[in-house]
Amino acid sequence: MENLSSSPLTSGLNPFGGLCFPRGTALISNALLNKGTGYSERELDALGLRGLLPPRIFTMEEQVERALLNFRRKTDPLEKYIFLTTLQNRNETLFYRVVMDHADEMIPIIYTPTVGQACLEYGAIFRSPRGLFITIREKGRIAEILRHWPVADVRMIVVTDGERILGLGDLGALGMGIPIGKLSLYSACAGLHPSYCLPITLDVGTDNASLHKDPLYIGLNQKRVRGAEYDEFIEEFVTAVQAAYPKALLQWEDFGNSNAFRLLQNYRSRICSFNDDIQGTAAVALAGIMAAMRLNGGRLEEQKLLFLGAGEAGTGIADLYVAAAVAGGLSEREARARCWFVDSQGLVVRGRPGKLAHHKEPYAHDRAPLATLAEAVEAVRPTALIGVSGQPRTFTPEIIARMAQFNPRPIIFALSNPTSKAECTAEEAYRHSSGRAIFASGSPFPAVEFDGRTFVPGQGNNVYIFPGVGLGALFCESAQVTNGMFLTAARTLAGLVTAEDLAMGRVYPALTRIREVSLKIATAVAHEAYDAGLARVPRPADFEAAVRACMFEPVYRDYV
Ligand code: NAD
Repeated sequence: MENLSSSPLTSGLNPFGGLCFPRGTALISNALLNKGTGYSERELDALGLRGLLPPRIFTMEEQVERALLNFRRKTDPLEKYIFLTTLQNRNETLFYRVVMDHADEMIPIIYTPTVGQACLEYGAIFRSPRGLFITIREKGRIAEILRHWPVADVRMIVVTDGERILGLGDLGALGMGIPIGKLSLYSACAGLHPSYCLPITLDVGTDNASLHKDPLYIGLNQKRVRGAEYDEFIEEFVTAVQAAYPKALLQWEDFGNSNAFRLLQNYRSRICSFNDDIQGTAAVALAGIMAAMRLNGGRLEEQKLLFLGAGEAGTGIADLYVAAAVAGGLSEREARARCWFVDSQGLVVRGRPGKLAHHKEPYAHDRAPLATLAEAVEAVRPTALIGVSGQPRTFTPEIIARMAQFNPRPIIFALSNPTSKAECTAEEAYRHSSGRAIFASGSPFPAVEFDGRTFVPGQGNNVYIFPGVGLGALFCESAQVTNGMFLTAARTLAGLVTAEDLAMGRVYPALTRIREVSLKIATAVAHEAYDAGLARVPRPADFEAAVRACMFEPVYRDYV
């Protein structure tokens, strides 16, 4: 098996097809190879750099200090995002050193919540391109466009069509911030070499009328193409990806739910692929519920889950909960009966006016309709309330208080992103439950002081799951990414939550442990792939060591 930590870029070959390693300004402007002010005296002479850089040579540590100084000088998160993006486009090694060594501080900037603001303003803050934009007008030419990407050995593609960006809706081509951010997390959190990563936006138009009028909008100024033409476009894209990058894993990201479920179903056995909004979210939420069992002393099979929002995230979580509960002894019917949904039309029940979307049908209960979440809470008396609706402040003080009357330790997860969309704040969850809520959110909330205690809310961030799952699948060149792998990832993550985490109310490990978390998940996922006969390279003797050896470390290498 090839070592995923060394790419053609770092082994000294020219990935761009030329005959020699870049020199002079070509080297300085190559972000994957550039060392900023860190070239040695020998390199300055041998690579035609002498005079192009100031004479003093700085160590990586000194460069990190300078980057941090400039980063912290900025008070606006969006300015911090722009700073980090510019650093990434100039010197990827330094960018990853900074992000990895200060994960707690950097991840909320390169990903949610700040990435949401960055996407909203992507046109206004646009400086230099990253990734591929493939528009519906290029239908018939996708293979040609993939050839424009300078690296031949792509392993990880995150692709969006921008229709449902976080909880912000249809942002069209502005959604490019999401694939870029997710791939940065693959490299920072799971050590996938950045040169293997390719962010792609499929621009089929947007139905967001305000973007049509925005003079700075960067995408196609037309309504979304749907139906057969859309499907043909996707089919051509998948076929072209398979031909150009046969070892690549494709991650579907932030598609609207009318396409997301269908695309996952249609392609998951044809190309190694998964949908993070459905499957990654499911694993991270289930891991949080599993860890919560250690706080409330309950059993997974006894929980009653009430979801606000019956889309990709909600039904994805329910599906994985059902798989876990079935493994714990329930029948599928019994497990499904423990999941309830309220969507924009009220409680999801059979016979409700209008047609139920396919993904909601298995969770439609036989009972009278109810219009509101408050009524549903009274009727269902759930042990866990899970917000995945994109509707802020819908977990009202009264609802939280009722949850705390029904349960000694109610599980309250407000997972909608970004922070402005959360169903309640951490502070509200603790205050209105008299400090008894087991709370987690999609975007981070600061620690809360309540009743003389400090609560540290857990962040149910998909970053705990997808980088490890992706690394594991790539490591063994798995033919597919199965639901079993996500269940394994959830169990592994829950097992990494420590007693200290739980003591402060946190049902996830500290983000500073993310590399270790990703390594353990990658190892477990790869095991699962080998056991299922899906791996396409031989099984190594020392599994974890072999995965660890694959992980990219941002250090400067000697070029001469
Ligand atoms: P989606 O569009 O597939 O589903 C949204 C659901 O919310 C739909 O069922 C819709 O009917 C329902 N809804 C809309 N308005 C409602 C209302 N007023 N009352 C009740 N339900 C309402 O979106 P999704 O992919 O499921 O994502 C939903 C939210 O979850 C987003 O905010 C997203 O950021 C968040 N999310 C969080 C995580 C995480 O924290 N790890 C991961 C994925 C998604």
